[in-house]
Amino acid sequence: MRKFEKTILIPVLVVFLAVMTVVFISFLMTRNSVQRELDQSATEYADATTSAVSDRLNIFEETLHAGLGLFAGGPVSKEQFSQFINTSAVLERYPGAQSVAYAKVVSSPDIDGFVNTARGSINPDFALYPAGNRGWYAPVIYIEPQSDSNKQVIGFDILSEKKRLEALERARDTGQITLTEAIQSSVDPSDSGRAFVMYAPQYKRGMPLQTVEQRREAIEGFIYAGFRVSSFMENVVRDAEDMNISFTLNIKNDNTQLYKSPEYDAITATAHDEVKQSLTIGNNAFEFTFAYNGAGLLSNTNSRPLAILLFGTVTALLIALAIWLILRGKANELLLEQERGINEAKDNLLSLASHQLRTPATGVKQYLGMLIQGFAGKLTPQQKQLLEQAYAGNERQLKTINDVLYLARLGSGRIMLSKTHFLIRTLIEDVIREVNNEAKAKKHKITFEAPKTKREIYGDPHMIRMAVENLITNAIKYTTDGGKIVVRLKHGKNMRIEVEDNGIGIDESQQDKLFEQFERIDNDLSIAVGGSGIGLYVVRNIAGMHDGHVEVSSELGKGSQFTIVLPYGKPDES
Ligand code: ADP
Repeated sequence: MRKFEKTILIPVLVVFLAVMTVVFISFLMTRNSVQRELDQSATEYADATTSAVSDRLNIFEETLHAGLGLFAGGPVSKEQFSQFINTSAVLERYPGAQSVAYAKVVSSPDIDGFVNTARGSINPDFALYPAGNRGWYAPVIYIEPQSDSNKQVIGFDILSEKKRLEALERARDTGQITLTEAIQSSVDPSDSGRAFVMYAPQYKRGMPLQTVEQRREAIEGFIYAGFRVSSFMENVVRDAEDMNISFTLNIKNDNTQLYKSPEYDAITATAHDEVKQSLTIGNNAFEFTFAYNGAGLLSNTNSRPLAILLFGTVTALLIALAIWLILRGKANELLLEQERGINEAKDNLLSLASHQLRTPATGVKQYLGMLIQGFAGKLTPQQKQLLEQAYAGNERQLKTINDVLYLARLGSGRIMLSKTHFLIRTLIEDVIREVNNEAKAKKHKITFEAPKTKREIYGDPHMIRMAVENLITNAIKYTTDGGKIVVRLKHGKNMRIEVEDNGIGIDESQQDKLFEQFERIDNDLSIAVGGSGIGLYVVRNIAGMHDGHVEVSSELGKGSQFTIVLPYGKPDES
């Protein structure tokens, strides 16, 4: 990643995080509001359900009260009872109850006489059941509607069963309408066979009812309504729309369960919330427990927070991407402008180096040459030696300037080879002649070995000369005084220019970095001779541009051999 891309990443990240924070806060707020909506709907449903159950039971409470009013007017016949129920049509208008019935209290001594009378007045088959001796009895004598299953109840002693007895005694003793606990139908042992009964005590006319004893004394019968719990709930409770909610109905005193809606266990098995409601009917207290979760909510409500999170994240990413692209575009523009500026400065520097440094240095070379050759009069040996040193220094200076210029032109892609056919051999001889003074100063012996036949090469003579010159001056520089330098030209498959010295050599571990730009290798001579670390880089480059390469073999302390390998080249190949 480029450096500026790292820099613009910070503002992009800041914007992204800021947008994401807003998104996350919105997500939390929506989630809370969805939960609030859910709680509200659950409470509304719980209220509606509780009051529906309460209203329906109140209606039957009223019906039983009205029945008591009927009995208060004097003895009630089977037909009158039937008429009373059918006129009000309570069972049709308010479904939920299985039956409304009347059971008459009979004391033990009177029971046989009662059964006989009942056979005459009620039904010739009238029989009391279950059998057994009890202190008092309350056989059912009237029941509505007169369905086949209800008719079977005629003669059933409601005091014979424990849960019924308990509620009946409470009704009798308190004078209040009383509900039984959940009782199980003997014919249907399943949940749908669970039932409860609402009893209203009916006392003999004109008897005092202030104390429990008086009420026990005065009890004459019970009017009751019987309910199958499941069908009652089916008729009374509406289904919850759009939400998963279900409930249980418990009797508060002993916490026995009267009803549990079918989905209750499934809902409470998962994450859910609860709301409780109480209900009092006569002297019975009930508790509803509603359990609910959001699974059944309308999917668009339920997925609102998630949609906000998703949509928000995508928006944040898009904003971040847009900012990134804009900033990158701007940064690129700036960078290009900067590069353009740098290139301009480099060009200026190049022309400065070329004109202001190279031109005068070349002039100096010419003047020194003229002085050395005696154009300005005869020189003393000391003068001549000083001038020759100045000449060599000037040579090195020019070479470095040329290297730097080459490098600069290479960097700006402005090197164009100007190729021609020429003899390398002549070129090498020229270079050796030119460096002769330098070599003599170090008492080196330079020899040149070349094949007898002459062979031309197709390339840029100026560039190849620069490469050869670099290798030979390196050999001179990195060989201690009095060394032997052999330059060989070989015509093989390719042309090979070898420059061998018996100088200080290069350690093998250092050899691979020789050709790097500005890379110099520390050795005994590198400080003394000076250099820029450009030369070998330039040599390899020039060889490469001619589709050739450079080889090196060297041993520390023994000497080195650098070889330029060049194909002969053809005009059409260039
Ligand atoms: P410079 O000579 O300007 O330092 P070069 O790129 O020409 O840069 O050479 C890189 C390094 O390679 C030199 O610093 C020197 O240590 C080593 N070197 C080059 N030629 C020779 C040689 N003939 N013998 C020993 N060392 C050499």
